Amino acid sequence: MSKKHISISAEFFPPKTEEGARQILRTANVLKNFPLDFVSITYGAGGSSRERTVEYGELLREIFGFEVVPHLTCVGHSKAELLGILKRLADSGFRRIMALRGDAPKNAPDFAPSPDALKHASELISLIKELYPDMEISCAGYPEKHPEAASFKSDIEYLKLKTDLGAGSVLTQLFFNNSAFFDFQKECKSAGIGASIHAGVMPALTLKQARNFCSMCGSALPEELERRLEAAGSEEAQARVGLDWAKGQISELISRGVDGIHLYILNRPKSAIELMGFIFENL
Ligand SMILES: Cc1cc2nc3c(=O)[nH]c(=O)nc-3n(C[C@H](O)[C@H](O)[C@H](O)COP(=O)(O)OP(=O)(O)OC[C@H]3O[C@@H](n4cnc5c(N)ncnc54)[C@H](O)[C@@H]3O)c2cc1C
Repeated sequence: MSKKHISISAEFFPPKTEEGARQILRTANVLKNFPLDFVSITYGAGGSSRERTVEYGELLREIFGFEVVPHLTCVGHSKAELLGILKRLADSGFRRIMALRGDAPKNAPDFAPSPDALKHASELISLIKELYPDMEISCAGYPEKHPEAASFKSDIEYLKLKTDLGAGSVLTQLFFNNSAFFDFQKECKSAGIGASIHAGVMPALTLKQARNFCSMCGSALPEELERRLEAAGSEEAQARVGLDWAKGQISELISRGVDGIHLYILNRPKSAIELMGFIFENL
């Protein structure tokens, strides 16, 4: 029997500074040596990084040869703006989009969505499929429930709606506890979700960073990981703990035949190369 193909991908974010620009290019340069299925590049929900997402997406494709999946959020845009961005993405040759709702910007109390703004990622998926039926679509899934969701069950039902409307793959929120992911996978299957489910893995490079991410996205920081990070001391030692934890997660995900691993690499070349090296040695 042939071995199952596990999709391996990495997520970049568009840089805001010159040093940031050097970092993303350095990271892309080390990752180009791995046979990644795709890389994705995030989008500022307020629309602030709109052009940079497209520009860096094009650079990642043209210079490094990656299959690039740009993210697109609908929360900060009018329908006319979304139509323009979708046309720009399609004309540029992107064949797959990560379709998201996004969040209202936190530091903009006066933020008011456009009266005709789409309310949910599902509406964005419908719009993309209506205009560009051949465009592949990925959407977000939450092993530990989206923070606003009324219940885990309703969150899974809305995820099913996104896949029924045309999302062929689900990229998950980061999680540090694999059992949350395996339970989520089971629930998705019971709900009849046939899309592939790609596990979002992020190394906890410092305790501060891990706490920040967890409080932002509602993922749990396991006590044991927190304790090890606290005991580690220097930032270098904390990164070692976080990378080893991520490797433990990855080994188990691979051995249990996950559909894909989507690595949140934070545009950091050193940890990205170590984790990608580990993944490809263990596939
Ligand atoms: C892999 C990944 C990548 C991401 N990339 C980005 C990025 O590039 N830029 C960015 O700003 N953010 C990004 N995010 C964060 C994301 O925008 C937020 O988590 C946001 O709060 C929800 O987006 P969504 O697409 O999951 O929304 P939705 O699918 O719309 O879900 C949002 C909430 O509404 C509920 N819901 C869904 N559909 C309906 C419906 N039809 N009616 C009623 N309730 C509904 C859901 O249960 C959930 O609680 C990413 C998240 C993930 C997991």
